[in-house]
Amino acid sequence: MKTKICEICSIAADTMFRVQIASGKNWIFVCQSCCEKSKSLTQYKYGGTWKGKRH
Ligand SMILES: [Zn+2]
Repeated sequence: MKTKICEICSIAADTMFRVQIASGKNWIFVCQSCCEKSKSLTQYKYGGTWKGKRH
């Protein structure tokens, strides 16, 4: 199982959300809870879900 580190809170998780939280900035991977919080930002864009678990 692979994990990524959330770029906002630095927690490791096996399901990450690719989001943009500022205009013109790079895409970042964030955990579910940071993704939920980011949804209120006006520049929020969702770019997909990354899963480290193999099915
Ligand atoms: Zn986070």
